[in-house]
Amino acid sequence: MPDEFDIIENFFRPLACPEGLDLMDDAACLPARAGFDQVISTDVLVAGTHFFEHDDPYLLAFKALSVNVSDIAAKGGRTAYYMLGLSMPSDISKEWLLSFSKGLGNAQKHYSISLIGGDTTKTAGPITLSITVIGYVPSGQMIKRSNAKVGDSVYVTGCLGDAALGLKLILENNYDFSSLLERYYKPVAQHKVGPALIDYASSSADVSDGLIADLGHICKASNVGALLHENVLPISADATACLKRYGKYTNLVWSGGDDYEIVFTATREKHDKIEKLSTNLNTKITCIGEITSSKSIQLVDKFNKVIDTSYQGFQHFN
Ligand code: ADP
Ligand code: MG
Repeated sequence: MPDEFDIIENFFRPLACPEGLDLMDDAACLPARAGFDQVISTDVLVAGTHFFEHDDPYLLAFKALSVNVSDIAAKGGRTAYYMLGLSMPSDISKEWLLSFSKGLGNAQKHYSISLIGGDTTKTAGPITLSITVIGYVPSGQMIKRSNAKVGDSVYVTGCLGDAALGLKLILENNYDFSSLLERYYKPVAQHKVGPALIDYASSSADVSDGLIADLGHICKASNVGALLHENVLPISADATACLKRYGKYTNLVWSGGDDYEIVFTATREKHDKIEKLSTNLNTKITCIGEITSSKSIQLVDKFNKVIDTSYQGFQHFN
């Protein structure tokens, strides 16, 4: 393994922006932005838990940035910077680092963000990545989980279940539906829709643990419930084809994680404007139900029969 300073110089310095002071100082220095609040979030990804040890490091890096940018986007923020904590076994190769830093570079370009610092250590354990993202939102306008109101409509961006189906297929060595595998390996955050939602959404969260679980976080924080309609949940063409063959996985549409879409609520008057936003951004946004005064989320089929959603998505420490 190249030493820590070689790693920083060769692989990470090219990704830094002026605020990161070429990764040559003890800390980065961000100028204040008048009229904006900073939105900050961290995600830790551990090999063996969040990704496979032998996953392509390029895709791993892309995913690691996407999942972090997704958190900021769900708050209506635009990500500008990130910091990278990297713990690696000592037998990590130059090729791994090269591919990993290429993935970071590509994701940086996609999201218009830059590296401003981090930490690099050896570990006897699995590869562990900790990424902290820093974004900006107009002052006082961050979209919280806690402001959904009874009567609001519930919306979700994109399609649900692709990534979770992709993961099932990967575990079964089935490579028939490449778009589903891609959605698992290379999720792309809704970094343009998120900031546009500050004018519309009363609450929002990104769908990392599954629709029911993440909308559940909104409902808990807002002290409300929701009624969702299964027949309108957005499902991609490939997921539809996959579910025709593997009907047993249908619950992944609402309980599967890793899609990194945004679930949000908005008052009914905003509906036309949200449809327009969807057209303008060329991004599917679907109204899937409404917020209720009950304290739970109910999913009903087209005959209004309640569907059992007791499997609540991915949770650590269960
Ligand atoms: P310290 O000894 O003060 O912890 P380091 O020697 O670890 O500092 O880091 C030197 C510089 O390199 C700092 O600016 C730090 O932010 C940066 N750096 C270290 N590791 C990484 C990394 N994985 N990604 C980005 N920057 C890093
Ligand atoms: Mg120092």
